[in-house]
Amino acid sequence: VFFKNLIFFAILVFVLMFLFYIIYVIYIKNKKMSETTKKIMPSATLAINTKAKNLKNSGVDVINFAAGEPDFDTPEHIKRAAIEKINSGCTKYTQTRGIPELIEAIRNKFKKDNKIDYKDSEIIVSSGAKMVLYEAIFAITNPGDEILIPDPYWVSYPSIVMLASGVPKFVKTKNFKLVPEEIEKNITKKTKALIINSPNNPTGAVIDKKDLMEIADIAIKNDLIVISDEIYEKIIYDKQHESIASFPEMKERTITINGFSKSYAMTGWRLGYAAAKEEIIKEMLKIQEHSVSCIPYFVQYAGVVALNESQKCVSDMRDEFRKRRDYVLKRSSELGMPCCKPEGAFYAFMDHSEYNKDSMKFSEFLLDTARVAIIPGIAFGSLGESHIRMSYANSMKNLEKGFLNIEKAIKTIK
Ligand code: PMP
Ligand code: GLU
Repeated sequence: VFFKNLIFFAILVFVLMFLFYIIYVIYIKNKKMSETTKKIMPSATLAINTKAKNLKNSGVDVINFAAGEPDFDTPEHIKRAAIEKINSGCTKYTQTRGIPELIEAIRNKFKKDNKIDYKDSEIIVSSGAKMVLYEAIFAITNPGDEILIPDPYWVSYPSIVMLASGVPKFVKTKNFKLVPEEIEKNITKKTKALIINSPNNPTGAVIDKKDLMEIADIAIKNDLIVISDEIYEKIIYDKQHESIASFPEMKERTITINGFSKSYAMTGWRLGYAAAKEEIIKEMLKIQEHSVSCIPYFVQYAGVVALNESQKCVSDMRDEFRKRRDYVLKRSSELGMPCCKPEGAFYAFMDHSEYNKDSMKFSEFLLDTARVAIIPGIAFGSLGESHIRMSYANSMKNLEKGFLNIEKAIKTIK
């Protein structure tokens, strides 16, 4: 009887401890976490890219088509400029907005490339286009403000809006093109801004000038701010890049976002910039003062050299991307995974519905069977389902090998 009671007592203690642990996890531990961060998801693009890099480091022969970064090295003259500045002791805090030489180079770039005249006080430099987007969205968003985001979208837009206590509202695209009527349909009294991204991540679509003009009219008529993410401006194949801020009455209601990551293969340097009316930049500066403070001098100086010196490195990379784009288009159609012709950026958004409608399952299958890392379309919004995003910022040799692996893998399905 004594042992029976002892076993019963031990089970009771174990059950009580288990219940207490569950209550602790659900009600006490989780309560300590922010309600805001709980709502957002980790970045799928960065998560899959990290997984692919880790697999490679552990000796698995994975071909990485997930990475949204140029495979080219940063051009030599840009690296040299930064090294010289480190060696000469330029290693201290800088002006919060950015060093005057870089602000001037950006002002000149906007004038020359985009036909927009900004004052220095209308420009800010920060830690990548991502941080500039953060500051821009935080600067304009009040709790409950709605921000329109065309679907499919780059993964970070909705999360940044939610972190800023705004509400992301998704606008349907047609064949991945923005349709002005769809934007108008989603405008309410709470709509504050519209995010546009051309050339687009994940589809490579470029908004036509005519459509961009219609979008500008809608923004003016409904008093909307336009956040124009032009990070892929220089990686464009068949069209001329247009900046919406250059259209009449648009400069004062546009926040133009750009950076060095893609055009100059500088993803790891973390250098981006924005231009907008002074009122908005002033708010962004406050966020910067209380967060990143400033960007390292030598990184900013590398940006000055990137903008002011020959742009041949930019066009050389673009020409190489164009060759790969054409190859990817040909191979994807041969394999029964059609893809709208990407007009810019370095992504192909391929429809794999012939093999599997679930993009998560299909990309897992490709990783396991073809040893190819690719981003499932669903990560970019509901209209991305049944698609995968292949980044062709990878060598022609790897593209050829990757497609061969995919071909073999899908033969096992058919
Ligand atoms: N916008 C888009 C559309 C992107 O794809 C990315 C990804 N890098 C960014 C912004 C952020 O770029 P950065 O590396 O300058 O932060
Ligand atoms: N923008 C790139 C991508 O979409 C880099 C990763 C990220 O910042 O999300 O893959």
